[in-house]
Amino acid sequence: MTGLDRARRIVVKVGSALVAGEAGPDTAWLAAFAADLARLRARGQQVLVVSSGSIALGRHRLGMGRRKLTLPEKQACAAAGQSALMRAWEEALEPHGLTAAQVLITKNDTEMRRRWLNAHATLSTLLSLGVVPVVNENDTVVTEEIRYGDNDRLAARVAQMIGAEVLVLLSDIDGLYTADPRSDPAARRLPRIERLTPEIEAMAGGANAAAGVGTGGMATKIMAARIAQSAGCATIITLGRRPAPLAAIEAGEAATVIEPALSAAAAYKAWIAGSLATAGALVIDDGAARALAGGKSLLAAGVKAVSGRFDKGDAVRIIDEAGREIGRGLARYDSADAEKICGLKSGAIEAALGFTYGPMVHADDLALAARASA
Ligand code: GLU
Repeated sequence: MTGLDRARRIVVKVGSALVAGEAGPDTAWLAAFAADLARLRARGQQVLVVSSGSIALGRHRLGMGRRKLTLPEKQACAAAGQSALMRAWEEALEPHGLTAAQVLITKNDTEMRRRWLNAHATLSTLLSLGVVPVVNENDTVVTEEIRYGDNDRLAARVAQMIGAEVLVLLSDIDGLYTADPRSDPAARRLPRIERLTPEIEAMAGGANAAAGVGTGGMATKIMAARIAQSAGCATIITLGRRPAPLAAIEAGEAATVIEPALSAAAAYKAWIAGSLATAGALVIDDGAARALAGGKSLLAAGVKAVSGRFDKGDAVRIIDEAGREIGRGLARYDSADAEKICGLKSGAIEAALGFTYGPMVHADDLALAARASA
């Protein structure tokens, strides 16, 4: 059981070796994979693809041969190759009535809170519109210091960002082995990993380091799995070079599954509750406190006072009328706008600000403190 058949949101990372053939996109593999993916979409599952291949396709388009490229040359190849990559995805998905949408992101988009929220909102909107986002790193503009460089970790960050339950890393090997299976006949594939122990990391970094001809190799796959695990997302590493790799996973064919540490929604709330420095606070009335306890969003109408200075997307403390912190959440308005709308009914926000982002804190972005039973 891998959970792939039940997951609401799935991220599939596709490496360069799968999409880029010797003479351009591997249209046969892409067509078969698109059919596999369309099957999941038809079941109502939301699928996001992280696709490499811009540099490989650009290298071919710009006639660079096989020589080692400088960083500016790689970036030039990425620019020329990314459009070819998207055309290939569009042509593969269109026969299934699926629309692809290109999303190019940088490390800052996944690490700076405001940009993170922005990217999160865009990707969630695309997914709920039934589109298949095709994500890649924006290789053309990122510099060495700020790039991921490998799409394994990028895919794990994206999985975390959209609250995916499953991350599939399609590789040139069908999972993580105890040793290099090409040279050690005693090498054994690990079908299921609950905890990423130092021994497992050593396996990925040692004998298996060369497995995976892409930028990543097994070591970055395990790093990606660690990010996913703490975000409540399972990681499945399996062989990509077959016509229907997702169907193969569901049929129980060889793979390594790395279990999530907790549910994706719980991991997101734990991140809000714990890992952020709060920049301000919202004091709310008793009615709003009851609504929050019942799973509702915090509306501006229930906010009595705003303190501190914060930006849209910052974590704020939520304080009840008695002065107790009852939770934390991500504010949808900065502190200046929050002050202007506190106490206002939702319908009056647009008139006050000229725009509205909805509630002050959405229920999805709210982590309530565990109640002391008193
Ligand atoms: N972003 C790179 C590309 O599209 C690939 C990175 C990787 O191979 O993981 O070519």
